[in-house]
Amino acid sequence: MNRAVSPISLNSISVASKSLHTLVNINFNSRITCCVNTFLRYFVTKTKCTCIANTHVVPCLKSIDFFIGQIHHSRMLLKKGFKYRLDPTTSRRQLFAQYAGASRFLYNRGLEQRKTAYEKEGKSVKHYDQNNELVSLKKQERTQWLKEIHSQVLQQALQNLERAFQNFFQNVKLGKKPGFPRFKCKGVRDSFRYPQGVKVEGDNVYLPKIGWTRFHKSREIEGTIKQTTITREGEHWYIAFSTECEIPDPPAVPIQEEKAVGIDMGLTRFATMASGSNNKSTYVSNPRFLAEYLPRLRVLSRRLSKKVKFSKNWLKAKKQLAKLHAKIKHCREDFAHKLSTNVVKSHDIICVEGLKIANLIEKGTKSMSRAIADASWRHFLRCLEYKAKALGKHFVETSQYFPSTQTCSGCRCKKKMKLSDRYYRCPNCSLVIDRDLNSAILEKAVGMTVLKACGATP
Ligand SMILES: [Zn+2]
Repeated sequence: MNRAVSPISLNSISVASKSLHTLVNINFNSRITCCVNTFLRYFVTKTKCTCIANTHVVPCLKSIDFFIGQIHHSRMLLKKGFKYRLDPTTSRRQLFAQYAGASRFLYNRGLEQRKTAYEKEGKSVKHYDQNNELVSLKKQERTQWLKEIHSQVLQQALQNLERAFQNFFQNVKLGKKPGFPRFKCKGVRDSFRYPQGVKVEGDNVYLPKIGWTRFHKSREIEGTIKQTTITREGEHWYIAFSTECEIPDPPAVPIQEEKAVGIDMGLTRFATMASGSNNKSTYVSNPRFLAEYLPRLRVLSRRLSKKVKFSKNWLKAKKQLAKLHAKIKHCREDFAHKLSTNVVKSHDIICVEGLKIANLIEKGTKSMSRAIADASWRHFLRCLEYKAKALGKHFVETSQYFPSTQTCSGCRCKKKMKLSDRYYRCPNCSLVIDRDLNSAILEKAVGMTVLKACGATP
């Protein structure tokens, strides 16, 4: 029997603990990524915790083969992404631009078609019909140039459109903010994708119908290449391989407070960490990359707005602006990857607070929203989650409604806190502690309780 069971998301779980007596009736809406074995599932069922085996939203699934009374072998299907900078010749660059242009053309054409059909006749155009239309499009005089593009790249563009609509309808169904598919603009996220046929030899990559291109191979590609996406960021082209490999399940690490860390995210400091049983504090300052480059961004944007559209100088200014945007993005990614790798390597249990970042950005003031977006918390949390999972470590995201700021980490009593209060001064046990450190300690305590409650021991 094959079943995908990882990870488990606890929707509600009441935890009774002596040390956390005030948290008894709090419903934790937590997400746990950890290695789950059959014993755990059995335990969870028997203790009547509400658990949902969530297999749809996670980046990788874990398949477990087990037979009653026999030894079972667990293997994990790991999906990984490898991104490199391409080093194309001028002719290749032109081909890339042509391919990205064709993808954009088909996407926009398909979107227009769907919109018009719905507005005029109330009908929906199916992905299947749009895909079949490709053959006739290649025969028409005006769109003959599509013949020069690899057929699967064209199909993938329509596949992207279909996925955009599927996401839209799913969000409507779930009552989320829907986000109707938008038209793509030239020069903004130019990309195209191959679903198969890509070969790699040394630091050269073969792209069907384009040919061999050199890339900066900074690390080995692990697993079988499934999809390949080529994107333009600023003035450079990048290639991203999406691979799959099956690895033996990493052994689940034991639940020990010595190797646990609670992380509180913020704007004044990027992260405040409380690690180990003695709550050793680590402060990570907020790099604020956007704030650093904002004056330069403003200058370049102003220059661009004053140029005649599509003139040579306009194109030059646009290129400079795109280059700076790409630089800021890379700085953020680099920071998040380095910090998350460091945290995951030095800890076995990572507890973070659940954040509805989109809501915070929407409701905050302009400068605050900008600062939140600049901090890119979600990217950092995503990195932490998948890196922890790949190494068999535990990742717990506590409920966004858990009042970690207002609760005392010493005696668990609560008091109101203003945004300007930097220290938590407990009226009950007279504890005076840094506000963020207090939250981080609580995150760790809650995470440990949740893990112990669902018996996530090896
Ligand atoms: Zn207290």
